[in-house]
Amino acid sequence: TEDKDFEDHKYGTVGCVAIDLDGNIVAGTSTGGMTNKKYGRIGDSPIIGAGNYANNETCGISCTGTGEYFMRTLAAHEASNLMQYQDLNLAQAMNKVIAKIGSLGGTGGMIGLDKDGRVAWDFNTAGMFRAYKNSEGENSVELYEK
Ligand code: ASP
Repeated sequence: TEDKDFEDHKYGTVGCVAIDLDGNIVAGTSTGGMTNKKYGRIGDSPIIGAGNYANNETCGISCTGTGEYFMRTLAAHEASNLMQYQDLNLAQAMNKVIAKIGSLGGTGGMIGLDKDGRVAWDFNTAGMFRAYKNSEGENSVELYEK
């Protein structure tokens, strides 16, 4: 690929979102951070609301990408708010937030599921490795186009 950001990010971050039978949603994000980051930099991944967020009333989301933009937009929480207060579904909410991040110059994506267990993701890079499995036995592994 010619997408330098994608090259830089493709090994970095692992995110996970899950929901249990009682509707409890969890999200986790683990990362090595940005390539060549400043010593001591803390990215968006451990910041609840920025790179990571879960709310039983809306969704769980885990993000990857240029963390400064996910922090500036409070990306994961912003998507949840769009669902809660603007009645967008998860895919629409993610799409709005990723578009905003793109307009600011950021790259990356997010995975998530809503309170009914529906899976969604969005990204503005060439690809984002992702997979899901649900209790109906469906599962999927995807790499590039949405
Ligand atoms: N979001 C992470 C950070 O900015 C990096 C990544 O997702 O690859 O630290």
